Order: sequence, then C-alpha cells, then structure tokens
Amino acid sequence: MNTLNQEVNLAILKEKKITLHIKREDKIHPFISGNKYRKLKYNLLEAKQKGFKTLLTFGGAYSNHIAATAYAGKEYGFNTIGVIRGEEIFDKWDKNPTLSFANTNGMQFKFVSRALYKEKEKVLFLNELQKEYGDCYIIPEGGANLLGVKGCQEILTEKDSAYNVISSCVGTGGTISGIINGSKSNQKILGFTALKGEFLKDEIRKFATKENWDLETNYHFGGYGKVTPELVAFINDFKLKTTIPLDPIYTGKMLYGILDLIAKDYFEPNTKILAVHTGGLQGIAGINNILKKKKLPLISI
Ligand SMILES: *Cc1c(COP(=O)(O)O)cnc(C)c1O
Repeated sequence: MNTLNQEVNLAILKEKKITLHIKREDKIHPFISGNKYRKLKYNLLEAKQKGFKTLLTFGGAYSNHIAATAYAGKEYGFNTIGVIRGEEIFDKWDKNPTLSFANTNGMQFKFVSRALYKEKEKVLFLNELQKEYGDCYIIPEGGANLLGVKGCQEILTEKDSAYNVISSCVGTGGTISGIINGSKSNQKILGFTALKGEFLKDEIRKFATKENWDLETNYHFGGYGKVTPELVAFINDFKLKTTIPLDPIYTGKMLYGILDLIAKDYFEPNTKILAVHTGGLQGIAGINNILKKKKLPLISI
C-alpha cells in the first residue's frame, strides 16, 4: 500500500529553501492510524496462520492502537480483547470516543489498575490473561514487536530515496525502526519523541539495523499526551494554511518541531524533507472533550 507525498507550501520553507513533503499515511483509513495498520499487518497474518481466533492487546483509553486492533480484528475475522489502563473508566467507557469505536467493532474490554497494567509484559500476567480468555494471540502495546517493525518497513518506497531527511514521530519506537530499516544509508532519519526520556534510543536499537538516525527530544510539550494552547494554535494554523490535519499527541508535535528547526537553520538550504504523517486523527475527539472541560481552545476538525 503506497500513500501520497503531499508538498507543503509555507513562507518559511521558501525563505529557507527547504522542501517539505508529508507522507499521508493518515489517509490509509479515516479512523485508524496508518502506522498502527502497518504494525498489525504481519501480526494478523501470523495469528491467522497459527489458527488463533482471538487477538488480545493493551492500551490507554485514547489509544490509536486499541482503535486499530478492534477495527482490523473485525475486518479479518478475529475476536478482540483490549486490556485498558485505568479502572476508573470501567463504567463510563461509552463516553470515550476511542473505546466506543473499539466496542462498536467488537472489542471486549478488561480494565486494569495502572499498577497491574505495568505488568503487561510479564509472563505471569500474560498467563493469567490466557487462562481467562482462552488461547489468544497477544500483541504488545502499540504493536511494537518484530512483525510490527516489518510492516513499517513498507512505509518508504523506492521513490522516497530522493529525500535527504525523513522524519517520524516516536512513541514506542517501532515505527521509526521500520522506517530506518527501509531507508537508504545516505538518508537521515529524524525521530520526534512524543514523550520524555532517553530510554527510547535503546528501544530503537533493539530493532533498527542501521545507524543513520537521531532523536529530537525537545518537542514533547511537557510529556506524553500533554497538550498546550500553543500546540493547539499551531495545529489549527497548520490546517488552515495547508489543509492537512494533525493530531495533538504525535504528528502535531513533530511538525511543530520540524518547522521550529527549519526556522533555526538546523537544515542546510536545499534539503528535501519527508515527514511521515502516522495518523492519530481519531484521538482528536477525545482530546477535545478534555480541553472543553478545562475551557481551553479546541482543535478544529
Ligand atoms: C502510535 C503512534 C505513533 C508512535 O509509533 P511508535 O511505533 O509507537 O513509535 C506515532 N504516531 C501515531 C499517530 C501513532 O498512533
């Protein structure tokens, strides 16, 4: 599946002689993040091949991965179980747009405390889940496993070797690892982290087969899921000027970072940048609910 590269026209790009294209992976599906779809592809093939009937995975209440797993599971004929972080939402999940979507697509939920959620990679907890739900194919949080990375290796195509810099958002590091593995060695892969912490480099090193990458860690806006009025204003302005919608958790932060680096002359003139739009647009409704409660400006949709 190839997605379109869309040119961005902004005054700053002309002024700094930078070409910026956006790979519209968000267009893979209106509700499912492009990268989540790619991370599921080979996992679902594996599950089918091994005869599993049920997929079980993990995520927070606004997780793009939960929405994607529910949808893809339905599409490919699997039952789906979502182990959701936070017991407090067990009686009000129907007011959460992400979980409502997942449930409409057949996902069954198990709400667990934040403490138990931390055990999501421990054999003991996984065995308990297998006992409770029967034999299921377990996909880690965010779809970040070897097969997930393999799917993300298909994001770049031969034509994309014309770009000097490729940028990606980084959550678990699975997506950027696939992009690194699919890139040419003379290209620079630049990851924008959506959360605080240097540990992500080690996560990426687990999967990446090349060294042509680096992380920008200054554009998380306070941490994972943190959304500031400045970020919201940027996202709304970017959409107004380019028509391209961005999400507040990943792609908005990355584009803010790219344009900030361009303004600071981080890139040489005539650099061709390809920013991968990983999707995440399904999360806007949920974030807007939170912003509305806090009487803060909303993301325009
Ligand atoms: C999950 C997600 C990411 C992060 O991908 P990782 O592979 O976890 O690093 C980036 N963008 C969007 C829109 C996502 O949903």
